[in-house]
Amino acid sequence: MPHSLYNKMVLIEEYVSLKKYHTFGIDVAARYFCEIKSLEALYSLLNLLKTDHHYQHLPVFILGAGSNVLFTEDFKGIVIQIGLKGIRIIDETKETITVEAAAGENWHQLVLWSLEQGYGGIENLSLIPGSVGAAPVQNIGAYGVEFSDCFLQLTAISLKTGGKAIFSKKDCEFGYRHSIFKTALKNQYIICDVHIQLSKNPKVNTHYPALRQYLAEQSVTQPTIHDISNAVISIRQKKLPDPAILGNAGSFFKNPELVLSEFTQLQQRASHVVHFPVDNNTVKVAAAWLIEHCGWRGKRIGDVGVHTEQSLVLVNYGQGTGQAIKALASDIQTSVFEKFGIRLTPEVCIL
Ligand SMILES: Cc1cc2nc3c(=O)[nH]c(=O)nc-3n(C[C@H](O)[C@H](O)[C@H](O)COP(=O)(O)OP(=O)(O)OC[C@H]3O[C@@H](n4cnc5c(N)ncnc54)[C@H](O)[C@@H]3O)c2cc1C
Repeated sequence: MPHSLYNKMVLIEEYVSLKKYHTFGIDVAARYFCEIKSLEALYSLLNLLKTDHHYQHLPVFILGAGSNVLFTEDFKGIVIQIGLKGIRIIDETKETITVEAAAGENWHQLVLWSLEQGYGGIENLSLIPGSVGAAPVQNIGAYGVEFSDCFLQLTAISLKTGGKAIFSKKDCEFGYRHSIFKTALKNQYIICDVHIQLSKNPKVNTHYPALRQYLAEQSVTQPTIHDISNAVISIRQKKLPDPAILGNAGSFFKNPELVLSEFTQLQQRASHVVHFPVDNNTVKVAAAWLIEHCGWRGKRIGDVGVHTEQSLVLVNYGQGTGQAIKALASDIQTSVFEKFGIRLTPEVCIL
């Protein structure tokens, strides 16, 4: 039977189903689960983890809204869900404002808040599921904009020492769906808040072809930040399954980035492969195209499968397991490698 332990400011629950806490909706359990709503509670919890023999050596997993994780089995340690709230303006110039947003805020709500104030910079990132605190972890990106474009700094607390640290843009080592929090500092810091800079006189970014095409179809010639947000929302709703209806974590794999010589080799096998230049020597290849051309689009195996509209998205039809999704992902990786010689890397955090 699940039961709960109160310790000063924190409530630690036992044997908690994670089904509703992640967007794949897989029924796995956490041995311990704790939602953190204040910094005091976080410090109290970290102290407990350090000093109480119950928790001392347990693995820890930091959870936001669970829209980029795949649980393949019960989690034997403690899941800490970050529920810190608050959005405030902390600095202002004639052209810009600096916003501090707490990690537990919903990302899309932050985008809507900025639109309401008339501040631009993150409208292309509308409707990306998840929390503000996870945005720097994989440097969320969509429709020609990345989180790092507006990022100034973040505050994080070390799981090991409980010490507070400020990370600048350089410290975060942002890349395509990448930051230091996915590699060298994985699971080592709890991000508590981020500072982003928004523009009072926004210049919209319509570089992304699908966005430009949508605006042209709607005869929007001089788009505002609201037009951009509405366009992005509309395109996303058509293309991506709603996790509330069909379990998924968005793109399961990253788009591979190839140096020119590798790309030339790929083109010999796949002359029509969809690709985008990154810089003079690097090309990004559409992983969805590779997966589709291995025949995976719309394939269903038991209760898991590949989405019919977007081959990068793996789905749980209801009773799928994390193991089944992991096995499907592995079969996709094998067939893409055998056909095109390219190794797909998961974007999703697999536990
Ligand atoms: C339908 C759908 C569409 C999506 N589209 C996009 C897209 O267009 N672009 C894109 O980039 N992503 C996309 N994603 C992926 C996802 O939305 C992002 O990765 C998002 O940032 C995850 O936020 P989260 O709060 O759900 O993180 P979680 O899934 O809870 O966690 C993700 C990782 O971040 C870590 N983490 C979370 N919070 C913290 C914290 N406070 N401190 C330290 N570490 C933390 C976790 O440990 C984990 O490693 C999509 C997902 C879905 C389901």
